[in-house]
Amino acid sequence: MHSVSDQLLHRLREARKRRALSWWERTYLPAVAQGLWLTSAHFWRNLFLHLAHRAGLFRSVPAAATIQYPDERRKTELRLRTRHRLTKREDGTPRCVACMMCETVCPARCIYIVAGEHPDPNVEKIPKSFDIDLGKCVYCGYCVEACPEDAIRMDTQRHDIAAYSRDGMWLDIKELLNPGTRAFSEPPEKFVQLSVEEFKRLPSTPEPPPPGTGLAPS
Ligand code: SF4
Ligand code: SF4
Repeated sequence: MHSVSDQLLHRLREARKRRALSWWERTYLPAVAQGLWLTSAHFWRNLFLHLAHRAGLFRSVPAAATIQYPDERRKTELRLRTRHRLTKREDGTPRCVACMMCETVCPARCIYIVAGEHPDPNVEKIPKSFDIDLGKCVYCGYCVEACPEDAIRMDTQRHDIAAYSRDGMWLDIKELLNPGTRAFSEPPEKFVQLSVEEFKRLPSTPEPPPPGTGLAPS
């Protein structure tokens, strides 16, 4: 009786055996013709659709497999980790209680938190400043896993971290609370410290779109 490893070896040997090519196949003309036919079919189809789109026809049929980023966004899966955000309480203050769990667990050491006292005795603490250096972040998601308050998430559906400098990749607390309010060409307000009243006055951006909708914000 053959063992599993013998069976695997046999299957590997069988898979490596190649069928001998006929003299016609050895000219490679059928393969060349097949390739030319396939390329031409895509070319004429896409050319026709591009022209039709110009005329306002067949707009729902994409003219190419290429995604026209950033005008078009790819549909993303539920599990995809995208740029971070801090979740908020109803009054606009961060849910974060500055327990430092995420800062401690972060393998890249790219989270910087300054804790302050919260005026509400029911809330232990509040982060006066909360910064993430995306230039160092490895998108491991440990910070999200470690948070006991569901205060940090990686569900903004924003993937782009391109910037003109390393500073541009820095996420300050204003950007973390309201993703998309700062363009990456603008400098961050590193280590900016806000009071509870200032948190409440921050302009509020809508919640990120649900994952998988492909409607990621620009
Ligand atoms: S995703 Fe990982 S590396 Fe990035 S901030 Fe969170 S814990 Fe740090
Ligand atoms: S683990 Fe959560 S609650 Fe603790 S500091 Fe980080 S974001 Fe705030």
